Amino acid sequence: MRLSQMLFVTLREEPAEAEIPSHKLLLRAGYIRRIGSGVYAYLPLMWRVLQKVSEIVRQEMNAIGSQECLLPALQPSELWKESGRWDTYTQAEGIMFAFTDRQEREVALGPTHEEVITTIAKEMIFSYRQLPTTLYQIQTKFRDEIRPRFGLMRGREFIMKDAYSFHADEASLKVTYSQMAIAYQNILRRCGVEFRGVEADSGAIGGSGSQEFMILADAGEDEILYTEDGNYAANLEKAVSLPAEVVPSPFTEYAKHHTPKTETIEKLAKIGKCSPTNILKNVLYQVTYDNGITVLVLVNIRGDQDVNPVKLQNALTNLAANYGGKTVISLEVPNAEMQEKWAAKPLPLGYIAPDLADSYIAKSPQVHPQFLRLADRTAVDLTNFATGANETDYHVFGANWGEQFQLPELVVDLRKAKVGDRAMHNPEQLLKTARGIEVGHIFQLGTKYSQAMGATFTNEQGEEKPLFMGCYGVGVSRLAQATVEQSYDKDGIIWPTAIAPYHAIICVPNITDANQMQVAEQLYTELNQAGVETLWDDRDERAGVKFKDADLIGIPYRIVTGRSLAAGKVEVVDRATKKSQEIPISEVVATLQDWIKAAL
Ligand code: ATP
Ligand code: MG
Repeated sequence: MRLSQMLFVTLREEPAEAEIPSHKLLLRAGYIRRIGSGVYAYLPLMWRVLQKVSEIVRQEMNAIGSQECLLPALQPSELWKESGRWDTYTQAEGIMFAFTDRQEREVALGPTHEEVITTIAKEMIFSYRQLPTTLYQIQTKFRDEIRPRFGLMRGREFIMKDAYSFHADEASLKVTYSQMAIAYQNILRRCGVEFRGVEADSGAIGGSGSQEFMILADAGEDEILYTEDGNYAANLEKAVSLPAEVVPSPFTEYAKHHTPKTETIEKLAKIGKCSPTNILKNVLYQVTYDNGITVLVLVNIRGDQDVNPVKLQNALTNLAANYGGKTVISLEVPNAEMQEKWAAKPLPLGYIAPDLADSYIAKSPQVHPQFLRLADRTAVDLTNFATGANETDYHVFGANWGEQFQLPELVVDLRKAKVGDRAMHNPEQLLKTARGIEVGHIFQLGTKYSQAMGATFTNEQGEEKPLFMGCYGVGVSRLAQATVEQSYDKDGIIWPTAIAPYHAIICVPNITDANQMQVAEQLYTELNQAGVETLWDDRDERAGVKFKDADLIGIPYRIVTGRSLAAGKVEVVDRATKKSQEIPISEVVATLQDWIKAAL
């Protein structure tokens, strides 16, 4: 492509709408253009990058026997009602764009395709002889994200590769799941990014495995905890660790103490001359289920620990049926305004004890009349602990379960693992932290959707069984931008060769010089014919402008038809290292072919 004929517009100014480097650079370098909130146009350079990423994804999917197809983005509501997700997706989470067509039928734009693919499996798979089988597609997804941001990182319309596998049993699902994990590693390695596979939260389904693939970058929304020995890495949402050792309690007998202004653990530890590990913390939450019922939750946890809201939400989802609900709509620490709606009298905030009376909850059809009491595992082993006295400015010291307080029946792992904690697999390994951008997620779904939608098959014994399923996503457009977030310098983008829109760019410093133009045209033709994808900057611009633009758009090799022409050579500059060398014109094609081959 000749730049003089291309829609090529770069910006000198930093775009005000962008916060993180990759978003700024993609806008400035003319890769993308914002059309609306979370909606972007992929301009010609970007589209080439996206096609290269897609092609790598496609090759790795095909290599493990996954079959490409294309499913409809427009989906009838019936499918989502069958799986039970229509209400959650359109109302509770509200992430799905849904509308009514002119025939008064409800339809939605697909945020994901479990429902569509399960319907196909239900209609087309009858026998174990057809299993296992895996389908995938590369398609535009629609999600009405609450906070679309960072350009392609969190769009409302974006490109995803999603694959779905079907199996006769769990063992077969695990085989495909492992093949997918390897395919994902291949994809990311080939794209030229630094990444990590981490254990991920699988929501309340539990049991089944799930792994996320993270591109390491400071702008990442996710926190990863890992050990240096390489044996453990998990999303913070899911991470486990050994809590710090308990310091022996200084309290020898049970007594109530006046402890004014000790509403925090630190202040209490100071006044009580104890360690936070001797304190039982009681944290109040308010959960609302999809049937509109609100339940007040009292979590007991050791004073030096914090609650992991994702683990708590999973536990509460598992308990939903007890309250006539199916899913959690909201989970919050109730602020003063929220407390006013249900509290019968002012709460002893900062001084709550595990036996806080249910009479604090005013009678209301929308609010469950009793606290749901949950203990984290760290609370269970506490002895002679300090905790609130249910009275402002008072605490009790030297309390024990089974004596002054009843340990809740429900004991769950709710604590947040944190950097510096000892690892479960080896206490000598301490957890370290890194930030990551989630670009892929693989998931063992089990029979959740096949059961809900009646997708069954006949097994070898002639019995009818629900299909085992797995699902596997790659955010193609997010991956392309995340690569930039990891690979840029003060002058612009540095594309890894494998996904760069072009391999080389020829800059002609002076287009009125016939010799320069003639050499450039010759190289341009030969390089492209030899498979070296080459741009030709033949614009009527100063050399400085051309060099700046070449750096900004991040093409791996810049070829300059400048002074060295007199010696029959051109200058070739490596974008990443800025190293320049003079190469005889006749050797340029072979040299670049070698370099590109080595980089792929
Ligand atoms: P997130 O936690 O970031 O919202 P998710 O868990 O909802 O993502 P999945 O449903 O697992 O995402 O989708 C598979 C992949 O699609 C993700 O790993 C991510 O790379 C990509 N993705 C998800 N949402 C978006 C979005 N709004 N914009 C761009 N890419 C996205
Ligand atoms: Mg995910």
